[in-house]
Amino acid sequence: MGINMLQTKLFINNEYVDSKSGETFTIQNPADDTLVSDPVQAAGESDVDAAVEAATTAFKGPWKKFTGAQRAACLNKLADLMDANLKDLATLETMAMGQPLGVGQHIAAGGAATMRFYAGSADKIQGETYPADDGTYKIVQYEPLGVCAGISAWNVSLLTFGWKVAPALAAGNTYIFKASEKSPLGCLALGPLIKEAGFPPGVINIISGGGKTGALLAAHMKIAKISFTGSVGTGKRVQAAATNSNMKRCTLELGGKSPALVFEDADIENAIKHCTQGFLLNSGQVCAAASRTFVQESIADKFIEGLKAQYEGAGAAMGADPMKLDTALGPLADKSQFDRVMSFIESGKSEAELVTGGARAGDKGNFILPTIFKNPKAGAKIYEEEIFGPVLTVKTFKTEEEGIELANNTSYGLSSCVYTSSVSRALRVASALEAGTVAVNAAHTPPLQVPFGGVKQSGNGRELGTFGLKMYMEPKSILIK
Ligand code: NAD
Repeated sequence: MGINMLQTKLFINNEYVDSKSGETFTIQNPADDTLVSDPVQAAGESDVDAAVEAATTAFKGPWKKFTGAQRAACLNKLADLMDANLKDLATLETMAMGQPLGVGQHIAAGGAATMRFYAGSADKIQGETYPADDGTYKIVQYEPLGVCAGISAWNVSLLTFGWKVAPALAAGNTYIFKASEKSPLGCLALGPLIKEAGFPPGVINIISGGGKTGALLAAHMKIAKISFTGSVGTGKRVQAAATNSNMKRCTLELGGKSPALVFEDADIENAIKHCTQGFLLNSGQVCAAASRTFVQESIADKFIEGLKAQYEGAGAAMGADPMKLDTALGPLADKSQFDRVMSFIESGKSEAELVTGGARAGDKGNFILPTIFKNPKAGAKIYEEEIFGPVLTVKTFKTEEEGIELANNTSYGLSSCVYTSSVSRALRVASALEAGTVAVNAAHTPPLQVPFGGVKQSGNGRELGTFGLKMYMEPKSILIK
């Protein structure tokens, strides 16, 4: 069975159902402003309740009886089915949010790989024992939480689906996933694949809707955990709703204004390559993108000149059809994101020096030229706030200490990059940076084995790795006299 193209219903209990709320929303193709779909169905309160009930029944019933190896088999099968349908899944994302098809296939393959990665953990969940030297034998066992829910941003929906759903299911939980209202189609299409993979009804439920639907999940009394990916402002609301309802567990993967530090001993061509390709991937709509680049003064002119040439090269192809496999850069996800980024660019023009870009590309769709600003004034909005678009700010530094101080002077702490040929400098600076991840001599591409997430206001908790699996389990201590 293949996927169901352009599915607009909710997927609950292994069936597509109409939303009882009767509310719908519209998706427009950001590449050419055409209508993709206007009856995408939004889940209301009774729909969310139905999904929670299905997930609860599955958790207490058939899914509980699955062994770890059986859960692994379902996850592996779903990964195979996603891989077999990559082009269709990516096409749906491209239609809704403009991600170039080649990038979309890579993202969807990342979702499938995450299924496979956590399938390997499903039958290896370990506990601990401690000797009865004080007269009590102690056991720690790790148990699933119950019904979990995930809320996603729109930039990498199928990857986010994998990052949230796979560890939860490997640990024995059941799931309700809500993609963003800007890009729900790829995830909604997974229904037949989920069924064919052998998941019992109710184990994975996929609902759509905007903030109202997300808020219902965050505040639901029968959901044990919420895993949220999105902006800091919404993350704070989700955390408050989680706490004020039933104190559900809450993982937050939020925004960033990540630094890249380019030292004078770096391979400058490599730094330019990664500060271009790594940053412009998905048109800069990547949470971990290093949007504040700091370059040591002695190499600043050469670095900025090289970067400008690369950005202008990338910009020349801007406007190409995202449905073509060789298109590298697409439009921004929708009109509101386009307007937001353009307003940052406008304010940037009086806050810093425009090096290149700074304008819309073409006259249709939401394309924006790759843009570089340098020497931002103190307090510049483009330097301090997350833009989530192809707008980079470059600033110079003199010493290592100054570079570290500038890099850390932000309320965010998701990611960071260091470019240097000195291993000892790389380790020293990596230890000093306030970030969940430090990538050395490359842009940050998250491997599945290591935790991903942020410090400070970039989030709470982690996804991926064994740490990410633990975030879907609760330890229980058993004491035997
Ligand atoms: P957003 O916060 O506007 O929306 C994210 C999701 O939250 C959407 O699904 C939305 O429907 C839902 N939502 C909105 N209001 C809600 C509420 N009150 N309660 C519950 N859910 C609600 O973010 P966005 O614009 O979709 O995404 C961009 C942001 O996401 C950026 O800040 C980016 O850095 C961040 N992001 C972070 C990561 C990460 O892993 N750290 C990954 C991708 C994106």
